[in-house]
Amino acid sequence: MVREEMRAVGYLCPRCKKPVIARRSRFALAASGANVPCACGKSELQIDFDGEKFRVSVPCGVCGGEHLAECGADRLLDGEGIGLACPETSELCCFIGEEYAVERALAQLQITAEKQSAQGESPAAFTDTVIMYEVLSELKEIAARPHGISCACGSERYRMQVRPAAVDLVCEDCGAKMRIGAATDEDLDRLCCRMTLQIPGRRG
Ligand SMILES: [Zn+2]
Ligand SMILES: [Zn+2]
Ligand SMILES: [Zn+2]
Repeated sequence: MVREEMRAVGYLCPRCKKPVIARRSRFALAASGANVPCACGKSELQIDFDGEKFRVSVPCGVCGGEHLAECGADRLLDGEGIGLACPETSELCCFIGEEYAVERALAQLQITAEKQSAQGESPAAFTDTVIMYEVLSELKEIAARPHGISCACGSERYRMQVRPAAVDLVCEDCGAKMRIGAATDEDLDRLCCRMTLQIPGRRG
């Protein structure tokens, strides 16, 4: 497999709430780190490399603060990528890695951040970030179908609770719950063959 030359760096701007994505070559990252400013000019992510470890300063789009994280060169420069979690909320607030993974993760973060500010909930860090984002985008597709997600009680109002290794669909009317695994390839396969989902309604 050919190693991609470029790595993507992404975060959610705490000021304008827009996703910020920049591309940097592995060489540039290892040579001089990176500064990734938001187009609004009010936030900037910084990456420094001391020859062994990367130090990342992230403006956090989830809690509005600024976080410092350290990570090994291998994790930052190789593989699908990493997500850095906000210590206040345990929500991932920065992604560095393959472009498609970072773009997808950021799009989802934006949705989650919007939902969360509406609900005041904070999911924990995920068992498998890539699977979680695949599962969330699959759920979004199912939800977009007519009667895509419903409850046996007849309701189509539900909310999602994101857990480290699963997503719970909770009926807003009867409170019944359905757990969707979001930690393994099998979880994803199982979900991908479903056209619609029905929460088993609560009895009595
Ligand atoms: Zn901004
Ligand atoms: Zn934060
Ligand atoms: Zn129900």
